[in-house]
Amino acid sequence: MKDYILNMMDERGLDRAIMAEMVLQLQKPYLPALTLEDCVESIDCVLSKREVQYAILTGLSLDILAEKKVLPKPLNEAIEIDESLFGIDEVLGMAIGNIYGSIGVTNFGYLDKVKTGLVGTLDYAEDQINTFADDLVSAIVAAAAARIVHSRRDDVLQKHQCVAHKENPTKEL
Ligand code: MG
Repeated sequence: MKDYILNMMDERGLDRAIMAEMVLQLQKPYLPALTLEDCVESIDCVLSKREVQYAILTGLSLDILAEKKVLPKPLNEAIEIDESLFGIDEVLGMAIGNIYGSIGVTNFGYLDKVKTGLVGTLDYAEDQINTFADDLVSAIVAAAAARIVHSRRDDVLQKHQCVAHKENPTKEL
């Protein structure tokens, strides 16, 4: 399943290397020691989640089916013209961001608004329908960035708890 999704992403121009750079740009101000490798790894972890894979599969399939004009007419039109009141593309993106809590959702909202990098490129592309694709990129980047924040915080907490545990072994880890 993961390979299928990665292939689909490659074919639709959802470049993982660019997404990793976007994660780095987003988090570097807060985590100066963060490396591009950390970001590549975080993107990979996000893409390993089955619920993320299904969201990508659903979104990209709808973009492709709209290009083929095989969806029910009103739905096909809404996706084709990226109708602003359609909103289901954002809902799908938020669902991915939401896996990593409010940081994931707020990061998604920010990226969706500023449309930097690959998000803008996809949003303004004219050779294919990217109604879902741009939101998926924002969501994957937002989730990977939020995942880094959570894992760093867990590291710090764990260290803190371990020290507390050594000092007071009856205290729970
Ligand atoms: Mg969209």
